Amino acid sequence: MTTLTRSRILIVEDERAVARGLEYALDSEGFEVFWAKTGQEALALTYSEHPDAILLDIRLPDISGLDVCRRLRADGKRQPILMLTARDEEVDKVLGLELGADDYIVKPYSLREVISRVRAQLRRAYGELAASADDNQQLRFGDLSLDLSRLEVEHKGRLVELTPTEFRLLHYLARHPGQPLSRSQMIEAVWGYDSDLGYDRTVDVHMRRLRQKLEDDPANPRRFITVRGIGYKFQPE
Ligand code: CA
Repeated sequence: MTTLTRSRILIVEDERAVARGLEYALDSEGFEVFWAKTGQEALALTYSEHPDAILLDIRLPDISGLDVCRRLRADGKRQPILMLTARDEEVDKVLGLELGADDYIVKPYSLREVISRVRAQLRRAYGELAASADDNQQLRFGDLSLDLSRLEVEHKGRLVELTPTEFRLLHYLARHPGQPLSRSQMIEAVWGYDSDLGYDRTVDVHMRRLRQKLEDDPANPRRFITVRGIGYKFQPE
């Protein structure tokens, strides 16, 4: 992503008025915007237009936003996905993160908030890791290795699919081996948000996913350790 290329954002939202508001706000900030009214259109546009990020409403007329998210991740699509959820959809929020969404935005939201969340995700996904890849291409901890230039993770000789957020979280942990990290430190470093209330679940869900993907026994983690009253630490061996 350079300043010469406009970032491409896919809005998935069946309510025309809501979609138009988002479209107008993103367009006036210089983004190139695509609009899908249904889940099927969202899948088709993701494959044809390769958006850099996806704003994904959960309640859609055909397949749900959760299914769209699940399918894209199952197909190896790694662009940031921001779920749009209503305040009373607590279950959906957590489920969305578990299915591979990077973040969620609770309705009613301000357009300013949406723009800043989208920018944060784009910056995190395409800017900072690429820049940091120069100094050290590979991090290796026993049977786990991170390739920072390819954004790939190998565990026991096998390539493991991580979302961009999972990769950044792992990278952050791996850069602080053995050091207890609080959830708010993790939120600031990985998501780029001020550590106000309400994001602890986001961290916990992502840590659970890392354990599922990279621990032999996710219920008895040896690598991603809970530090009671603080957060987590990465145990290198
Ligand atoms: Ca809707």
